[in-house]
Amino acid sequence: MTLDKEKVENIIKELEKLYPNAGTALEYSNPFELLIAAILSAQTTDKQVNKITKNLFKKYSTAADFAALKPEELEKEIKGCGLYRNKSRNIIAACRILAKKYNGEVPSDFESLIKLPGVGRKTANVVLSSGFGKDAIAVDTHVFRVANRLGLAQSSTPLGTEKDLMKAVKKDLWSKLHHWLIYHGRNICTARNPKCSLCTLKNWCSHYIRKKIK
Ligand code: SF4
Repeated sequence: MTLDKEKVENIIKELEKLYPNAGTALEYSNPFELLIAAILSAQTTDKQVNKITKNLFKKYSTAADFAALKPEELEKEIKGCGLYRNKSRNIIAACRILAKKYNGEVPSDFESLIKLPGVGRKTANVVLSSGFGKDAIAVDTHVFRVANRLGLAQSSTPLGTEKDLMKAVKKDLWSKLHHWLIYHGRNICTARNPKCSLCTLKNWCSHYIRKKIK
């Protein structure tokens, strides 16, 4: 995929202007809490996750605490989340590995993170980026949709989109880009009926330009 450098620069400049304080909406105070919150966030809003973790982290704060739980005990705590039975099993299994293999700490490399139960590419990249300040692009549904509409990526898969974005944008902007695209996807470039007439990126947006030509 070849990209118009000027288009990319203009999109980045505008996103930066639109969302200067973009960051994760998940509430956490260390990489371990972020990992648990990120696992819980699959198919659940960040707001709902924050509501659950507010009480959860008061009761259980370490990998050893979670590792000692039975799945039914954790299920009761996280019942407000989608897929809570799976998440409960995965969190306990992941925490047992953390307690046994990593002295209770969260590893800060992609290959180790992705081996933990319940942790896919997206979750691993969220933890690397927001938990450890590393350059990473987590492709969730908003990032996937907005990046492909804008033409920053041209891929039918999250992995292909991640690779396209990593090529399109300088490494030190990867984490910011992830947050900018999420904000834009939530506010303007919604899945159904994107608000193109209000969108200040429309002059560089492949989807908008294609629609106008038709
Ligand atoms: S112009 Fe429309 S499709 Fe393109 S980024 Fe903006 S809202 Fe999304």
